[in-house]
Order: sequence, then structure tokens, then C-alpha cells
Amino acid sequence: MSILVKGLVAFFCAFIVVLVNHEAPSPIEVERDVLVAVESIQIETSKSHQRATTQQNPIATTTTTTTTTTVVPFQPTMPGVDPALCRTADARDFIERVPFSVGFPLDGSTPATGTIKVVLLPVDFSDAIGTEQEIFDAQDQIDKFNKWVESQSRSALTVDWVFPDEWWRLSKESAEYGLNPEAIHAAMTGDARSYFTTVETFGTEAVALADPSIDFTDVEFVFVLLPKTITQIDPHVGAFHLNIPSDEGTITKLWGGGAFFYRQNYDGRPKELWTAWIHEIGHTWGLVGHAPVATLGREQEVGSTESDLHLMGNQDAVHKVFSIWDQWLLGWLPEEEVYCLPVSHLLPTPEIQSTEVELVTLDRLNENGYRTAMVPVTRTSILVVESRDYGIVVYLVDTTLDHDRSAENRGVALDRFATYLTDLVLHVGETVSYERIGITVVRSGAISITYEMSELEQYLESENEWGLPDEVWVDNYDPVVVPPDHFTDIPFLIDQMYGFYERGPHIVELQRILGMQFVDGIYGPATRRSHMEWFGSFEAAHRYFYNRTTWYSETIDPEEDWRHNWANWDEPPTLLELVNLYFLPGDREWALRVSFCESSARPSDTYSNAVSSALAVGWFQHLSRYWLERSERSGWYGYDIFDTEPNVAVAAWLFYKDGDSHWNESKKCWKGTAHE
Ligand SMILES: [Zn+2]
Repeated sequence: MSILVKGLVAFFCAFIVVLVNHEAPSPIEVERDVLVAVESIQIETSKSHQRATTQQNPIATTTTTTTTTTVVPFQPTMPGVDPALCRTADARDFIERVPFSVGFPLDGSTPATGTIKVVLLPVDFSDAIGTEQEIFDAQDQIDKFNKWVESQSRSALTVDWVFPDEWWRLSKESAEYGLNPEAIHAAMTGDARSYFTTVETFGTEAVALADPSIDFTDVEFVFVLLPKTITQIDPHVGAFHLNIPSDEGTITKLWGGGAFFYRQNYDGRPKELWTAWIHEIGHTWGLVGHAPVATLGREQEVGSTESDLHLMGNQDAVHKVFSIWDQWLLGWLPEEEVYCLPVSHLLPTPEIQSTEVELVTLDRLNENGYRTAMVPVTRTSILVVESRDYGIVVYLVDTTLDHDRSAENRGVALDRFATYLTDLVLHVGETVSYERIGITVVRSGAISITYEMSELEQYLESENEWGLPDEVWVDNYDPVVVPPDHFTDIPFLIDQMYGFYERGPHIVELQRILGMQFVDGIYGPATRRSHMEWFGSFEAAHRYFYNRTTWYSETIDPEEDWRHNWANWDEPPTLLELVNLYFLPGDREWALRVSFCESSARPSDTYSNAVSSALAVGWFQHLSRYWLERSERSGWYGYDIFDTEPNVAVAAWLFYKDGDSHWNESKKCWKGTAHE
């Protein structure tokens, strides 16, 4: 069994299938489907799970908690905002990879609210025969499933089960269906199409057997019950984009737990089918799942796929709940249980702002109050705080990320749309921070959220009431114009770039620091020049603000540090040679004139280290802030802005694309020179 790592227990779950259009997939869609149609193996070590701080059986907890209590939380220090602001939109690049969502709106193939009909279909084999007891046990699993759905969805969803209490005998021995671990693993890592065919063959026979007795009208999902003696179907059989005929229409979603689900868990707990059913149908509700499992920054470590905190993270999780983010996506979490507070609302006064809020734990659904605090950080990222019976859990949801499960067979999570901020749950007195947002457990079930402003934010807040001076001459101001020997102690106002003609009290202060005599709060040419000169020279400023290694990282030559573009020339080419190469004859005189106007270049020059106060570089004065994009789009990605051939080639590309407008600033100098 090559897929089982010795000493570890492999953990499977159904295939994630990404067919955009099952009826008529285009060749591209088919390829994408095959590429991503793999939900591979999750490996769990036998070491205790750090986040699972309680070993109690949550089901037992649920059944013993029968009294309904109501806890009225204290009012938060700062009122929350409209929870709609915490419905972060799905912002993945490849958003066509439905039907899964990492943000709003949720895009699934099974309704998560209302009433849905599902079937549990018992099938057995001549070599693995089902018993009456197993039918009885399965009813118990259905009851647990229903109870969970009712409480977790807050009665938003009802599942009607069709469960015939008899076994249907398939025609072949179980091994002949090709669903052993080796075959499934091979399909997962190779051609997933063959796996779909295998599942469809199996499902078609099973459904056909039961079709005379079962009405498949409007059935959303077919679960298959396999006998506990099954060994040759392992770990499971199932997929979500199938084409299984029935008398009442096509069945697309089918899943059944095989031998894997009848073996003990890594910690000795028996596995239960009902939580696996929830996990699998959860995918078809639209949940990507399998996040958060790892800790931010440690996604690459072995074991980072482990989490016992929620059922979409692990279908056999110790804690039989959905994460708050999954509940929120599903529409199961009432708005009044969401305390939503964007970072900007923690900003009105300088220094440290904070708010306190009490949270009701996820584990006790019969209490009222805020169930979560969410702090939108950017338009596409949000911090989510969950209260659990054993502490506070904080994770970051980044809706630009998908989920990369390709390394799960090594126990490595890779990129996930959600990651925990800490390894461990937080207890009273502990703090976790992200960017400048801090979340502290101030007492059991209560947190404070703080935001520490950046120096610039503090400055802008504190100076706002000053307003802008009109035009101020400063005669008795001590200028600080000499930069320190090492750039270790740079005033924060110097240490950033500003937009041309940006204005504000921070520019007033910058102008004072620079010792400028004319202080108007506007970042114009003189201020920009003075700002860049603070670094000693424009070139020094350029080196400080731009990490040029990012420009040539792709073509770096370990021998020469980076690959000079003239490697293909016997001698470094002159400006004239390059202009002749990249400009048409009618435009060459103009090109030479522009390079002279922009950087005093001469046709015989072989190099230019001209840098302007705008941090424009070289013969044609390319603006540094556009270089990465423009060099890439023109086919010169990976070349340094100081390299001569790309400097000319990218200029020609801009000229033949946009005309001469890029060099308008020096037009007085070159106008009248003929060019197209
Ligand atoms: Zn899954």
C-alpha cells in the first residue's frame, strides 16, 4: 500500500471535482477538470493535536446539554457596523472554478437552506454481506446527521432522507469495481476521468437496482451505505459531477464511505459516517473546506494539514462544528451574532484604540449573543475570531487565495484561503496580532481588539485640525538635510514615496524636515527633488526605494550577478546601434533627440546612469514604478532598468503603442524633430 505512510494513518475524503459544464465541457475545461479534480490524501500523525485541547466527546456534550440558557452579553465598547461589511467577496483570479467559494457569494450545487431530499442506499456484495444490525446502526447515523443539521443551520435546512431498510446485492465481487486504494490513488494523481468512469459504473448499477423501489425525483445527493465487512472498496467511492441515470433523472452527486471509515481513528475513536456525510455534502453546498487547518507562515510544514477544530477541516474532527466562516458563507449564522468592525473604525483618535466584546462559544448553540468578531483588514481579507469552550481561535481569511491540496499526501497544507494566526488556542491574557491589529483574551469568552496606528496615520490624525497652510515661508527653521551615514534612522516621513502633487499636513512636515524654505504642503517638483537629494543623490534614492533584484530575478546569472543584456553583443552596443535596431528609419532622429533631451545622451554612449528626481532612469528616462509592468508587457521581463538594450527597446514599444506622449515633459526640447 504505497499511499499509506508507515506509522501514519491516511485520511481520505471525496474528490473535489471542478467541471464547469458537465454536459459539454470544452477541451480547456476538461483539462482543468483533470488537473484539479483531485482531493487527495490527508495524513494524520498520531501525536496529539495541539488545537484539540479537550478530549471530551462532543456528541456526549450535545446530548447532555438540554437546558436552554440565555446569556446577555455586555455591550461592546465600540458598536459594530452593518455585518454586510463582513461579507468579504470571493476575489480569486480563477473565479470560474465554481462551484466552490472562499468568499461571498457562496456558489454550490446543493441548496444549504430549505428542504432537500437525499437517499441512503445500502448495497452489498457476495463477498461482503450487509446485516440487519448495520441497517439499524445507519438509522442512528441519519438521526445524528439530522440533529446536527437542525442545530448548526439554526433550522435553516431540513434534510429529508429516503432510506430503504434492505440491502441491494451488486452483481460482481467488491474487488471488481476497481475502487481499491492503489487504483483510487492512481486516478487521483493521474487521469481523474478514469476515476469518474469507475464511480459512474458503480453508481449506475447501484441506482438501477434500487430504481424500481425508490423515487429519485429531486434527489440532491445519494449516499451509499457499504457493509462493515467491506475491504475492497477503500477509502471511499464518490464524486460530485457524475452522470448516473435514474428513471426520475440524472444523479450527479454520490458518495459512500469504504473500509477506511470502519477502521479506528488514529486516537482510537471509532469513525462515524455521519460527519463524513456532512463534510462531503458540505463541499456541494459550495464550501471549499480544508481551511483553516494550518498556521499562517507554517503552511509548508509537515503536519500543517491537521486540525480537529471543524468538520470541513477534517471530516472526523473532534469538534463537530463548522467554522464561523463556513457558517457565515452558508447563511446559517444570524447577522445579529456577528460583531463586525473594520480597522478604520478603530482609527478616530491617535495612539492605541481598542474595543471589547463578549463572545458566545460555538460549542453552545443555545445561547444568544455575539458568536464571532470579524475585522475586515482589506477589501479581500478579514480576521475571524471564534470563541470555543476551550479558548479563542483567530484566523485570517484571504479571499484572493484558493486552496492548494496538492501536497496533502505529504501532510503539507500549502496555500489555503484561511489560516490560523496561532498554533494554539488563546487563553485569558494572551494576545495575537496581525499587521497592527491585536486580539487579546481579556477574560473568559471576552476579547479586546486593538489597532496600533502607523506613525503616518498618527501624524495625519493629530494634525488634521491644523488644516493646510496657504503658502508659508519659513526663515528660522533648522533644516535636517544631511542623511545619516547609514540609512538606519530615517524619519518616517522621509521613508516613503508620495504621489506627485500629493498634498497634506504630512507634506508640510516633510518640507520642514527637508529644510525647504517654501512650505506649501504640496509634493511638487522642488519637494520631490529635495526629498530624493536627502539620500545623497537620485541614484542613491533609487537604490533605496527600488529593490532592483525583483526586476532581474528571473534572468539572474550567478556568475555575473545578473544577466546584462549585451551578453549577446561582442561589444556593448551604442545608443545609435540600438536606436537603429528598434526604431524605424523615420523615427530614429527623433529617438536620438529625445534621449538627449531626457538624459543628455549622445549617439556614441554605451551606458547611462541618469536618474531623475522622479526616479526615471536611463537614456529614455523610464519611470521606475512602471518598469516591472512595462518591461514584462514588452517582452523584456527580468531585465534591469539600467540595462541599455531594454531601455531602448521598451521606449520603442511605448512609442509605437502610445505615440510620443510619454516624453511630453521634454517636448519643448525635441519638438519639431520629425517622427511618425
Ligand atoms: Zn473534503
